[in-house]
Formats: sequence, C-alpha cells, structure tokens
Amino acid sequence: MLRGLMMDNPLLISSLLDHAAQNHADTEIVSRTVEGPGKDGTGAIHRYTYADAQKRAKQLAQALARLGVVAGDRVGTLAWNGYRHFELYFGVSGMGAVVHTVNPRLFLEQLVYIVNHAEDKYVFFDLTFTQLVEKLAPLCPAVKGWVAMTDRAHMPPLKIPALLCYEELVGAESGHYDWPSFDENTASGLCYTSGTTGNPKGVLYAHRSTILHAYAASLPDVFNCSARTVILPVVPMFHVNAWSVPYLAPLNGAKLVFPGAGMDGKSLYELFEAEKVTTTAGVPTVWLGLLAFMKQNNFRFSTLKTAVVGGSAAPPAMIASFRDDFGVTCQHAWGMTEMSPLGTLCTLKGTQEALSPAKRFEIECKQGRVIYGVKMKIVDGEGRELPRDGKAFGDLLVRGPCVLREYFKDEGGSPLRVDEKGNGWFPTGDVATIDADGFMQITDRSKDVIKSGGEWISSIDLENIAVAHPAIAEAAVIGVPHPKWDERPLVVAVKRPGAAVTREELLEFYEGKVAKWWIPDDVTFVEQLPHTATGKLLKTQLRQELKDYRLPT
Ligand code: AMP
Repeated sequence: MLRGLMMDNPLLISSLLDHAAQNHADTEIVSRTVEGPGKDGTGAIHRYTYADAQKRAKQLAQALARLGVVAGDRVGTLAWNGYRHFELYFGVSGMGAVVHTVNPRLFLEQLVYIVNHAEDKYVFFDLTFTQLVEKLAPLCPAVKGWVAMTDRAHMPPLKIPALLCYEELVGAESGHYDWPSFDENTASGLCYTSGTTGNPKGVLYAHRSTILHAYAASLPDVFNCSARTVILPVVPMFHVNAWSVPYLAPLNGAKLVFPGAGMDGKSLYELFEAEKVTTTAGVPTVWLGLLAFMKQNNFRFSTLKTAVVGGSAAPPAMIASFRDDFGVTCQHAWGMTEMSPLGTLCTLKGTQEALSPAKRFEIECKQGRVIYGVKMKIVDGEGRELPRDGKAFGDLLVRGPCVLREYFKDEGGSPLRVDEKGNGWFPTGDVATIDADGFMQITDRSKDVIKSGGEWISSIDLENIAVAHPAIAEAAVIGVPHPKWDERPLVVAVKRPGAAVTREELLEFYEGKVAKWWIPDDVTFVEQLPHTATGKLLKTQLRQELKDYRLPT
C-alpha cells in the first residue's frame, strides 16, 4: 500500500470553533437565557460572537484544568440550549475531556444511574435544574463539584457541598490557551439512550465521528448550511448533540440562535422573527405547538425556509401545513443516538421534481435518503437482505464511521450483527422499507418504547409498576396516538380473580414511582392479554385490537 503524502492533521472539535472565530469572528450566537426576565417575562437575550465564544471556551478549558479535570474525564451538563452550554461543548471536548450531556427530563433514579455510571467529575447545570441538583448531589458522591451556569449575582441558595459559579470559574482565566492536539479517535462526547430493557446505555462519540457527521449534516440535501444560514436548534443539546447543529454551525460560519427553555410557539416565533432565522430543527410535538400558535394569530414567517423534523414520525398533515400555510419546507429526518444521530433526511432528487404533486408528497412523507457515510439495508428474520422496492419491509440495519460499535463500559458484549462478509451492522430496532431511489420509510418499530413529545417512555417499566399493584395479575402498556404528544401510554390490565381496583387507583399507584409525564393517560381492563407461543406479550396484536382507542380528553 502506498501511503498518501498529505498532512496528518487530526479532525478535532476545537478546530470547528477556531475556524469560526478566525473566519466568522463577528457572526453572532444569540441565546435566550434562563436568568432574569427579558421584557416579555421570558429569559433575557444574550448575544456575542464566535470570537467571544472561542475565548470563553478556552477560559473554560483552563478552569477545568485548574479543577483537576484531565483528558478522558467526563464532565456532565444539565442544561438548555444556550451559549454556556455551547462553550462546554467546545471547552470540555477541546481539552480532551468528554462532555456528557444529561437529559434532565429523565426520572431521578435514571439520572443517578447515568451520572454515576459515567463517573462525571463535575456537573454543570442551568438554574432551572437547581432543585433537581439538590436531590441528585447526595446520590452522586463521586461528583467533585456542581457548577451553576450563572454569575455570582444569580447563584442559587443551594445546600450542597462543592457548589461552584460558572462565571467566576471562567472569569478567573486568561483565555491564552492552545488547544491540545491528540488522536482524532479520542472520545469527545457521551449521551445515554434509554431503551426498552435494562439500564440506559452510553453512546461515546469521538472527535473524528463528530466532525465527519457535522460535514455530512451540513450538505445541501441535509441542513443546507452556509455562512448565510441562521440556524435555531429547538432540539435540545441534551438530545444527541442537538442533531449536530452546535458543530455544523461553526463549521459553516452560520449564525446560531439558542432558544433556552422557551420552546412554546410564542417564544420560538419571536426569536425566528427577531433574529431572521432561516433554518430550524425539532421534534413533531414542538412544531405542532408552533403551527397552532401561528394559525391562531394569523402570523407569517418572514425568513424561515426550512424546518427539519425528526425523532419520531412527522405526520403528513404537518409537512403539508408547513408548505401550504407558511411556505416553509418541512424536511423529514430519521436517526438515533447511536448514529450521531442523523441517518436519513428527505429531499427530492432532480428527477423527482417533475412528478405530480401527489407523488412528490408521498415521497416527502418518507424518512428519506441516507446522508453520506451511512450504509443502510433491510433484512428478514434470517438476516437475508430484502429488495429495495419500497414494498418489502424488514429490520433496518446500519453501519458507518458515525455509527456506534459498542456501548460505553458495555458489559453485554457487541450489539452488532455480523454479516456473511464479516461486517458488523447496528440493528436500529426499526422496521422499514427502502425504495429503488434509496428513500427509506419506517413502517413500525421492533421496540415497544412509547414516544411522548420526543422523549421515550419505557413500556416495560410501566408494566412492571402495574403488576406490582396487588390487584393486577398482568399488564401491557402500549403507546396510543395523541394529537399533541405523538403517543401517550395506555395500560391494558388484567385483574386478579376477585380483586378490585379502579382506573383512578391504578393511575395513582404510579405517582412517585416514575416521572410525572411517564404516568399513563388511561387504563383499560380486559379479561386476558394476547401472548406468543413462548408466552411473551403479543403487543402487535394488542395494538391492532386497540387501534381505534381514543384517550379521554
Ligand atoms: P433516539 O435514539 O432517542 O433518537 O431514538 C431513535 C429512534 O427514534 C429511532 O430508532 C426510531 O424508532 C425513532 N425515530 C427517529 N426519527 C424518526 C422518524 N422520523 N420517524 C419515525 N421514527 C423515528
């Protein structure tokens, strides 16, 4: 093999911010903060530039080093989308440590598990999560310090040891700092995914995978990002790196707008208009809220051109409404934590532009074509590849340089399926079709997880609680369609012979055992549940039987 003779510069995350700071120094990063009310009562607006962000990310790296954080250490965050979280993305990864974005919406027990499993050395938190930190801190004794992401004037009166102030840490440093250089396969970020069974699992991203993913995600058929783009990620930075937006924006020199905790229609619309946002990304639930607000008020977008939607299936009516009512292209995307996360995005090919509007719309409702770097196939139960005809459906498998190989500290062995050529494929757990043009459509999912407002609810956890009730013999929990939240859990339960329990009593039984939003919306009692030959619950049949079920409103 003859080696190429090009420079061996590792692909490092710090280079993204350096690039933006040098070539787009004045380009703005605008954030709605969680501190102090702005003029409308929501968070005040903070604005600065890539040059400012670079300096502060370097100051942060210096502060972390002073605190004893070394390469490979995990640093947790419990934070909304905002400039300090952005600085953590670059300051932590840039110095060779690992930014561990924790999803604050998880139940306390899961948070404790995740912070301890990751062995976070420090955890940085937005003021919104102060009470959460008060509960979490005593249960995570290995954390050396909890850093409130604010200035001294806004420090919360928290009774926990080792409470630190972000602005004091950063303010004490000079910012005269050179990012270290190291192997591009070094870990850069950590994100836990909560599946249907067992404990949450950690997906450990590398510098190389993050940069390659940001490149691919920038392209015209994906986020179509440039130095003329103004991009607002509604998808949280604790959900798989906000789909790469915090990385691809500096790569392209795009203006970044962070919505903080304000994800309601009004707050988003105001930011879109004030900051001239052209591109945005979020889960269907958020867009339902925004569209309803827009229609109620008869508002129009002045600059918004593209809304990427993913995380769960986008209803066709939403895609149509964005286009017909507001002139915005709604692009359907699919991915998962294990894929960094983008797998596919739906944009038509040139040859498809001439199709009839109905035919085009049919394609636009699919989850789309793979982004560069992702290989995808569907297989049957025996692992045989199925045809790409848009009709055959099977288990969706993926591979690529931004796809997970194994979980962090995995005890359970490789999750990959090895094909006849010895290549490992990651089983997505989704069931899909792929057509001759490469457009993939999810038809079902092999997992039974319930997706509510872009968040996962484990059906098994909810079943376990139901059967812990003395009057319940057996229970299945399934997701049923919900106009706002996408899906909400429904308990289908069988009572013990002679036992009595009401719907209300069973729902009350969930209180304090899971996060409030996990509590099922309804209960239906049945004589028996359908089972497979091996005695497992047959949820596919149950869903079919209850397909017309309507939740109480
Ligand atoms: P997460 O790792 O939390 O991002 O969840 C990944 C899972 O969400 C995928 O395996 C799919 O089941 C589901 N998902 C993501 N995007 C879509 C979409 N556009 N349509 C249907 N399901 C989706």
